[in-house]
Amino acid sequence: MRTGGCCCGAVRFETTGEPTKVTYCHCSKCRRWHGHVGAYAAVERSTFRLVEERGLAWFTLNPKVRRGFCAECGSSLLWDEDGDTHIAICAGVFDAPSGLTSKAHIFVASKGDYYELPEDGLLRLDAFK
Ligand SMILES: [Zn+2]
Ligand SMILES: [Zn+2]
Repeated sequence: MRTGGCCCGAVRFETTGEPTKVTYCHCSKCRRWHGHVGAYAAVERSTFRLVEERGLAWFTLNPKVRRGFCAECGSSLLWDEDGDTHIAICAGVFDAPSGLTSKAHIFVASKGDYYELPEDGLLRLDAFK
């Protein structure tokens, strides 16, 4: 069982699922929404449960995707794509120890011009997967 939530506690979740490895998304939308690169680990939807959701609000990115955040403290939390078997959780909102490991940098062609990609040995992909 893993748990996590926002800064203020108005959104809390738990999951019994095994999260995917973390992907770091460098696209411009993730950088704006997170303030920098987006880091995500996904779990099977059936294993994900909101324990507290009074602060949960959604930003509709496009007709298929919405981003979940805490309306009380502003924490970025979820990436929810219509029809996907998994829901993506922002890696930084898991409680420690998260047990998460890293997999890849994605949308690296869209990365910001103010930093270099780290020499961390992870996959580097121009799109998703
Ligand atoms: Zn909050
Ligand atoms: Zn992105």
